[in-house]
Amino acid sequence: MPAIDSRTPAPAPVLDDVSAEILDLKKQLGATILAHYYQEGEIQALADITGDSLKLAREATKVDSPVIVFCGVLFMAETAKMLNPAKTVLLPDLKAGCSLVDACPADKLEHYQEVLRANDRKFQTVCYINSSAKVKALSDWVVTSGNAEDVVRNKVPPGYEILFVPDKHLGRYLQELTGRDMILWDGSCMVHEIFSVVDLIKQKKEHPKAVTIAHPECPQNILQLADFAGGTEAMIKHVATYKEPTEFLVATEANMMWELERRYPQHAYLGVPGITCSCNKCPHMARNTLEKVRDCMKNRSPEILWQPEFDKAKEVLARSLLNPPVTAPVHPMGD
Ligand code: SF4
Repeated sequence: MPAIDSRTPAPAPVLDDVSAEILDLKKQLGATILAHYYQEGEIQALADITGDSLKLAREATKVDSPVIVFCGVLFMAETAKMLNPAKTVLLPDLKAGCSLVDACPADKLEHYQEVLRANDRKFQTVCYINSSAKVKALSDWVVTSGNAEDVVRNKVPPGYEILFVPDKHLGRYLQELTGRDMILWDGSCMVHEIFSVVDLIKQKKEHPKAVTIAHPECPQNILQLADFAGGTEAMIKHVATYKEPTEFLVATEANMMWELERRYPQHAYLGVPGITCSCNKCPHMARNTLEKVRDCMKNRSPEILWQPEFDKAKEVLARSLLNPPVTAPVHPMGD
């Protein structure tokens, strides 16, 4: 076997044909590929930037290439477009939606806000970023799990109730953290909603030293069993604090483990099973495939086009997400 010269660069990884085509197209278009942590690993591996909603929204404002390929779901690509009106934003599959978006139609929210006003309730509307542009335009603040605590604690004036839409689990969690009066919309994430408490208790017995980490989109009964609750970036930061090989029980979308394994391969990660589906993968995120990423770049379509409601939604997004936190959150959720 020939001696390995440490000065010789490592050979480039062998790419499959579709991945190689994507990288060629990326050069031709001058595109930047953004991918959410909930995308399949093969898509994340090709991305220039991976992240959660907050990180991707912020990074989208720093991109200087004319084309953004957004590997995520529709509301995320719309957010990237709102923050980059002059750029072409491509989404591999326009049908990549979100159960939280579906849970809060704008006309129902508007009607409910009118009812509250008619009853002289003093409130501000805080919407989770997982909502339509019309819902964002009807809101005072947009939050991700990364800035939610800061906004709820510091930006909604004292004396106001908070109408929190659409995720009741994240809303309840924030209510508990901050003690603010909240009216919770009845929406939930179809992936985080279905983790099985029974299976988690069983896993904890089988792995007594394991650390359980859970996303605040999970119901309260899962969060009560978790050693750490936080959004995706916060989970990554939390795992980074363990220096010795450790087992983690992970209650969030399963592709998140790809990033954890990539960054911290010394640990073992076990997904907490769901009640009805043990894969824990988001079917909306899964609509994006390598082939669809390639095709949207080839065809420059589907493209996110500017909608009238983006004007107001953009203002709410910019003041909510692009300003630094007023104070460091007590419970940093990252996102
Ligand atoms: S994981 Fe849940 S919140 Fe995220 S896109 Fe899928 S359905 Fe929506």
